Amino acid sequence: MTQALLVINAGSSSIKFALYTVAGGAPTPCYRGQADGLGASIGSLQIKDDQGKRLLHEELPESDGHDEALDRALSWLEERLEGHDLIGAGHRVVHGGPEFSHPVRITDDILERLDGFCELAPLHQPHNLRAIHAVARVRPHLPQVACFDTAVHRQQPRVAQRFALPRQYENKGVLRYGFHGLSYEYIASVLPDHDRQAAEGRTIVAHLGNGASMCALHGGQSVASTMGFTALDGLPMGQRCGNIDPGVILYLLQNEGMNAAEIEDLLYRRSGLLGLSGISADMRQLLESDRREAAEAVEYYVYRAVREVGSLTAALGGLDALVFTAGIGENAAPVRAAICEQLGWLGITLDREANAHNAGRITTTDSRIPAYIIPTNEELMIARHTLRTLDPA
Ligand code: ADP
Repeated sequence: MTQALLVINAGSSSIKFALYTVAGGAPTPCYRGQADGLGASIGSLQIKDDQGKRLLHEELPESDGHDEALDRALSWLEERLEGHDLIGAGHRVVHGGPEFSHPVRITDDILERLDGFCELAPLHQPHNLRAIHAVARVRPHLPQVACFDTAVHRQQPRVAQRFALPRQYENKGVLRYGFHGLSYEYIASVLPDHDRQAAEGRTIVAHLGNGASMCALHGGQSVASTMGFTALDGLPMGQRCGNIDPGVILYLLQNEGMNAAEIEDLLYRRSGLLGLSGISADMRQLLESDRREAAEAVEYYVYRAVREVGSLTAALGGLDALVFTAGIGENAAPVRAAICEQLGWLGITLDREANAHNAGRITTTDSRIPAYIIPTNEELMIARHTLRTLDPA
């Protein structure tokens, strides 16, 4: 019987999922779907085939939450999987804390430990875990695997993982974890097809999505990243502040009378592109806007990205390639152009026409350092990990 795998990436109000069949030990995408608006007045469930053809689009009634949406999706998928054996579900779990440096098969004990990291990733972790509980309720015997966004960064040199705080905090797990690890692993796995020399050497990957970070890869291994203890640090994001002087937090506590919950809301939901522009968290809308505030938000975004490339290049001791990925990295040509142009001093020469096409190599043939667009595929990475974890042979 052909085997099949379910991959789930759950957020607060949406669940993205994909079904893979397994042939010759490799996962092949079969169906992809998304449940949106969960818990809102009208939700929806969409499923497409691997060619992008829409096979299902239905409204979910008001009461429908994560459990109902997953149950409906699983029933629909299983009806079409006659002759297939669903062998497991793989989940994206944002925070694996200090202990998880590899994907793990989920048990009650592991779930309890992962629950302890919810405060470190309040936008993601509770929803990731909720989806695991939901699958366990509707399919109690299905093996489940947690794949962590922090795992690949656990191999960074210790100096890259530390903060200059008294040692007792490090012992308690106050470390730089880095995130978007599944995306970086995927890019590292396909980089040799684009540039073998860079794959063996020093590459910076810019994962510029709604959340955004950069990772320095040396020989495909993460050696430094811009996100830290939480997914707030580093680059400015749609709604998150990115790099900020911790003195600002003290000021907000002491002088503005804000409490922890208000500061969390400010830094995670009201800052970044949204806070800077006062218009939108969405890069596409900012690029389309002719308002000065939109242009200033994009200017800051590019400025911080350029500074982080400089910092990671220093950590790597040089640079062999720059890779753009995720929503902004793959689609926002003006943002890539501005970043590459401000990195001219480093040896990056943009090919404007190639950049406008949103694919492949976007630097001139005589650019000392090449830059590429490589679409990420976190779901495929989760499917590969899940398969390996369930069947290590
Ligand atoms: P998530 O982190 O939610 O997976 P994505 O990787 O989908 O996010 O990235 C979302 C971001 O990509 C948004 O800011 C969106 O505006 C931006 N984006 C997507 N398509 C375009 C485009 N054609 N031009 C500019 N920005 C785009």
